Amino acid sequence: MPKFTLAIHGGAGTIVKEDMTPELEEAYQQGLQEAMYAGYAVLEKGGSAINAIKATIVTLEDNMLFNAGRGAVFTKRGVQEMDAAIMNGKTLEAGAVTGVRNVRNPIELATEVMLNSNHVFLSGKGANDFAIKQGIKLEPDEYFFSQFRYDQWKAIRDSDTYSLDHTHQRLEELMRDKKFGTVGAVALDQNGNIAAATSTGGMTNKKYGRIGDSPVIGAGTYANNKTCGISCTGHGEMFIRAVAAYDVSCLMEYKGLSLQQAMEVVVHEKLMAIGGEGGMIGVDKEGNAALVFNSQGMYRGFKDSDGGEVIALYK
Ligand code: ASP
Repeated sequence: MPKFTLAIHGGAGTIVKEDMTPELEEAYQQGLQEAMYAGYAVLEKGGSAINAIKATIVTLEDNMLFNAGRGAVFTKRGVQEMDAAIMNGKTLEAGAVTGVRNVRNPIELATEVMLNSNHVFLSGKGANDFAIKQGIKLEPDEYFFSQFRYDQWKAIRDSDTYSLDHTHQRLEELMRDKKFGTVGAVALDQNGNIAAATSTGGMTNKKYGRIGDSPVIGAGTYANNKTCGISCTGHGEMFIRAVAAYDVSCLMEYKGLSLQQAMEVVVHEKLMAIGGEGGMIGVDKEGNAALVFNSQGMYRGFKDSDGGEVIALYK
């Protein structure tokens, strides 16, 4: 049987053991594991990489712990505006949405854009109209409300500050035992096909329709059967400027670097040089997984058919 692999992340940032309670640590590990197993089960049954990563992301979007779907952060206007993207490494087809509201699983909508529209990237009201037309599940505002997200936003809403979900300069105290993150998944299936996906609420207190790297193909999300699949998390502006996900693929394709080497160049050299805090997960066409970050921690994991399995939070 050909090797298959699934890698996931639940966000990167100031994730340190001292700030965690044992209960919260356990909740994160469980949340990651549940999502990882959901995707892995699809691969095990011979399912596609696309269906595997969707199963993983939907599980994470439904989990209040992560900054995606239900747990999305508040914008400056006090609402949730979510971004998501998915890419098929076999065909280079991709679908992405930004600034969508009340969509239960933005990754379902991104997939719908990929499969059933003539477009790649839909935004705001148009994307929401498309969701309604395609019968994508919507939820009322209350579904997305949580007191901790509200408090997190309230602490900075009157300022011009916006913050990465788990890097809380002035929010350190408030967020002591509440850290959450953007989510991503990458898989190689039994047919040798790679797919990658990312879903997020973006950054707390974002305004002016700010869009991060997550839904931008090539920046936060990329997949190509020739090289690898990548999903990023971190300070999106820098990941866009570095064209981070695509750069990993380019370093592999044009320079012959391994997945691990290419990710290290992008995360530790190129992103660091412009102050880009965060990390990324990747899977290559041989089924190797890599989890690389320059922040204090990254919720992450992978599972492969050779018996490899990791769930980790800290450095
Ligand atoms: N990369 C995301 C963004 O900039 C944030 C994150 O990864 O938590 O929107």
